[in-house]
Amino acid sequence: MVHQIDPKSFINSIEDLKKYIKLNPREEKTLKEIEKIHPIRITKYYMSLINPKDSKDPLRQMVVPNVDEFDLSGSYDVSGEAENTKTTGLQHKYPETALILATNRCAAYCRHCFRKRFIGLPSNEILSRFDLAINYIKKHKEIDNVLITGGDPLVLKTEIIKNFLNKLTPIGHLKYIRFGSRVPVVLPRRIYEDKKLLHFLHDYSKNVRQIYIVTHFNHPREITKESKRAIQCLKEAGIIINNQTVLLRGVNDASETLAKLMKNLVSIGVNPYYVFQCRPVKRVKKHFQVPLQKGLRIVEEAKKHLDGHSKRFKYCMSHKTGKVEILGILNKYIYFKYNEAKNLNNKGKFFRTKLKKNACWLDELT
Ligand code: SF4
Repeated sequence: MVHQIDPKSFINSIEDLKKYIKLNPREEKTLKEIEKIHPIRITKYYMSLINPKDSKDPLRQMVVPNVDEFDLSGSYDVSGEAENTKTTGLQHKYPETALILATNRCAAYCRHCFRKRFIGLPSNEILSRFDLAINYIKKHKEIDNVLITGGDPLVLKTEIIKNFLNKLTPIGHLKYIRFGSRVPVVLPRRIYEDKKLLHFLHDYSKNVRQIYIVTHFNHPREITKESKRAIQCLKEAGIIINNQTVLLRGVNDASETLAKLMKNLVSIGVNPYYVFQCRPVKRVKKHFQVPLQKGLRIVEEAKKHLDGHSKRFKYCMSHKTGKVEILGILNKYIYFKYNEAKNLNNKGKFFRTKLKKNACWLDELT
């Protein structure tokens, strides 16, 4: 049987949302305007973690629209994804990695999403012909891993996920597969209730090639009995789970919160992998970005409370020129290093720019 996600698991409109949190008529009108531009989707499970009486609840900030979404500063394609697209739904920015946009849907629509331009909306950026993507990967022998993302590929039917993986099987130069998914955080039962999916992932990981899930916990309160259960099932299926956190104003921009998140992730078997600087995305930038100087202070203070294992993450910026690690500040300069670079000559390059107090992105410094 193909696993189906019960449509009753979601809150899909402001009208629905009113059953869970109180909105005054002005707020309601504003949020209804926003949902026409960027749809709302919250799982009832995730809503149960939100304090309905606290309008500043950090979990609420991530899923309930905010009036600042009317702010149009920034760009919808900060990381230059259009120029890295080689065939519909396939991006190739760094030699070793092909990125597949498998869907425009997610279990919940994060208000801070950097792919806001198409999440929950009609899009021609999504994979339509898997055979074209497969042919591209076959021809490019330098690709040793595929990142299947979206949207969230784990909202797809189990049969589709199996089909994706089976089609990748014969490509000998692939060493491992990654899925980018927030399902363990926002809809964990989609994982622990689908024995068929878990069984298949176990077989594939054991007999074909290693699968990784890169998940997206942003706050310690997202680690619950249910999310732990989903993580445990994935681990039992032989999957390695890494976490990418986005540093978000009003959510996790405090060293104690970040330290607690990293410690708790390690305690459930999830590896802290990246803390990302929030990108200057239209309708996101204004309310979520934390200045780099402050971000560094938070990250370094958090690290003081962490052991080596919990502080293995890198604080990075996914810039259009590459993945830039934010290293530190000394004598009015801020120091960076290219962890990955689009121009191979920049790989590993160490550089500095003059510090500006409120700069939130590399382009605001140079
Ligand atoms: S789950 Fe990922 S892709 Fe989907 S809205 Fe959230 S951040 Fe964006």
